[in-house]
Amino acid sequence: MKYLVLFVVVIVGLMLIKRAQQPRTVRPPQPTPKPQIPEAMLPCAHCGVHSPASRCVWRDGKPFCSDEHARLGS
Ligand SMILES: [Zn+2]
Repeated sequence: MKYLVLFVVVIVGLMLIKRAQQPRTVRPPQPTPKPQIPEAMLPCAHCGVHSPASRCVWRDGKPFCSDEHARLGS
């Protein structure tokens, strides 16, 4: 019975050593992906070309693809 306890202790010790030697599979913390908000594509009121909302030229509440089309109007 005494040897059984010793045997178990040795096995557990070996398992712990083996676990400690294994390469850690912990991945480096990855940057949390930013939620990508799809940008609205708005049609130019003059020519109908779709442009990202942030790049639209606004005039009279209408989106235009460029300053020139904003000047020309719809
Ligand atoms: Zn246009």
